[in-house]
Amino acid sequence: MHSTIDISPRTQYFLDLEERHGAHNYHPLPVVLEKGKGVHVWDVDGKQYFDFLSGYSAVNQGHCHPRIVEAMVSQASKLTLTSRAFHNNHLGEYEQYITSYFGYDKVLPMNTGVEAVETAIKLARRWGYEVKGIPENKARIIVCAKNFHGRTSAVVSFSTDPSSTRHFGPFMPGFDVIDYNNLPALENALKHPHVAGFLVEPIQGEAGVVVPDEGYLAKASQYCRDANVLFMGDEIQTGLCRTGRMLCCDHEQVRPDILLLGKALSGGTIPVSAVLADDPIMMTIKPGEHGSTYGGNPLACRVAMVSLQVLKDENLAENAEAMGQRLRKGIESLQSPHISLVRGKGLLNAIVIRHTNPEAAWDLCLEMKENGLLAKPTHGDKIRFAPPLPITATEMDEALDIIGKSLKVLD
Ligand code: PLP
Repeated sequence: MHSTIDISPRTQYFLDLEERHGAHNYHPLPVVLEKGKGVHVWDVDGKQYFDFLSGYSAVNQGHCHPRIVEAMVSQASKLTLTSRAFHNNHLGEYEQYITSYFGYDKVLPMNTGVEAVETAIKLARRWGYEVKGIPENKARIIVCAKNFHGRTSAVVSFSTDPSSTRHFGPFMPGFDVIDYNNLPALENALKHPHVAGFLVEPIQGEAGVVVPDEGYLAKASQYCRDANVLFMGDEIQTGLCRTGRMLCCDHEQVRPDILLLGKALSGGTIPVSAVLADDPIMMTIKPGEHGSTYGGNPLACRVAMVSLQVLKDENLAENAEAMGQRLRKGIESLQSPHISLVRGKGLLNAIVIRHTNPEAAWDLCLEMKENGLLAKPTHGDKIRFAPPLPITATEMDEALDIIGKSLKVLD
């Protein structure tokens, strides 16, 4: 039942280089990619695949989107970095663009997703001391079990995944972990007078696309408002049309007090992240108190503006909604005994594999790879299906055929 895979000498060459010279902090599928366009990627032997991971949802607009690449190349040949010691002629335009796009007073530009999370934690604490009046060094942030917000020391301090924390301590204090999708637990945690913020993923992506009950986000945000606590929406994976709305919080008309974006903010080209908030929160940080060498560089600003514009111009939220429904229906109609569950919103989906073999999800991913579709298991028995958002109905049906055919390897 194990999928047998052929690895070409050319592929093996690249695998060996990484094995020998790179840190072993990932466990990728044995495929080496060299080209991408739209929903497809090609390996070093010229074989074509559907990309059903989209760089963990960074490539929402599709690989190498021509408008994003054009903006990047033209800006790269003009000016790439000034640092924030000087102004540049794209930062202000970008700040105006993104704040009016999402309806916030201010933006703080960073690079990676985890830096946006770090920024949000600092911002919430600062607001907690200066606006809410929490005594110095007593601020608390509520987070959810099975969260994933990135890999820095502060952020893994509140991870509940042993692979993120084992032998990485001591950890940063000040975080209260409650169960996800549990409103009474939130209500209870909010009673503590020193709580500054509640940091939450609208859908827990890395945990295996865990979708909370309908109404959870709306109620959670209401509870936070009532308790004078900031609702911090980590939309780094769920945002930017991935779940069939511009933001996943839009499904419940929730407006986070602090909104975190990353990944697809650059369409998968360069690291660009952003923290959005209104003045009473954002203006608590003063010059010299937070920043990043690359944050707000002109290259990132141009790329982010076009990446956001493409989402609207190509109606990618609507397409994600329609194609997500097609995907989930298609998987259900396969009626495979090996799939115990399919869940998700828009094009952020996962299947849960039911099998006696603990390696079944990995084997299925290898078989799908052989048949021309790339996806990756998460937490052992779950496989995320998150293709680039411009996928057409014909392409989705082709992908479903591959999934259906590949499942036979588990018979
Ligand atoms: N927050 C969420 C919800 C994520 O899914 C991720 C990455 O997967 C991050 C934060 C961290 O982003 P980055 O890997 O760019 O630091």
